[in-house]
Amino acid sequence: MDSPRISQDAGGFFWTDSHAHLDMEAFDADREDVLSRAEASGVGAVLCPIDATSERSRRLTLEMMAGHPRISAAAGLHPHQAASGMDEAVETIRRLAAGARIRAVGEIGLDYHYRFASPADQQTAFRAQLALAGELGLPVIVHSRLAGDDVRAAVDAEAFTGGGVLHCFTESWDIARAMLDRGFAVSFSGIVTFPKAGDLRDVAARIPLDRLLLETDAPYLAPVPHRGRRNEPAFLLETSRLMAALRKTPLQDLAAATSANFARLFGRPA
Ligand SMILES: [Zn+2]
Ligand SMILES: [Zn+2]
Repeated sequence: MDSPRISQDAGGFFWTDSHAHLDMEAFDADREDVLSRAEASGVGAVLCPIDATSERSRRLTLEMMAGHPRISAAAGLHPHQAASGMDEAVETIRRLAAGARIRAVGEIGLDYHYRFASPADQQTAFRAQLALAGELGLPVIVHSRLAGDDVRAAVDAEAFTGGGVLHCFTESWDIARAMLDRGFAVSFSGIVTFPKAGDLRDVAARIPLDRLLLETDAPYLAPVPHRGRRNEPAFLLETSRLMAALRKTPLQDLAAATSANFARLFGRPA
């Protein structure tokens, strides 16, 4: 993605996908094609969260970053895996953070929907990684599902002031506002395009433009009209168009603001 060719279809603007799992097996067959399509769609920058428990995730993400200067990464222990290998994960994050373009600790957080790990283990892992981010001077990428109050409580308990983003936001305006007050940005995925997501669209319309990010969370959560298919960064444009209409913000301004917000939070892509 050295010199993005930007199609008319994209509105001709520079978009940033703040969260895509391009390390996953879903992309093994055509990872480079996916990156080419992103570039052709005007999605010039992508952040990939590394799974700190996975050697494969580290290797593939670092390889992608070596070939594509506008890919950056974060590293974290996902709440689904909070019960396993905490100390090792922290050491991995620390080591990765010493390298270039590791821009955040994440994704980390609490998921009370799936509960693959117990809430207590999730809270322990989340708080340890908030402390680590504070120590490293990095922002955090937070996954919160049905857990907004406890996310806020953990941030307060750790006195974490490094900021970050609530990724793939699905919670209430009250949670959004509480985290905006704590310096966080809020990122929306293709979920906002789903017919039943009216309440979430109301929240998305109210987030201040200077705190808003967009993401695909690929390979999950493909936006309408791609819903049900494998998601990929090029599909960010569907979410972008919906958000622009919803907020009555010109596409150009939305692209500029969300890319600038990303750069302010995570550093400018190459
Ligand atoms: Zn997540
Ligand atoms: Zn994710």
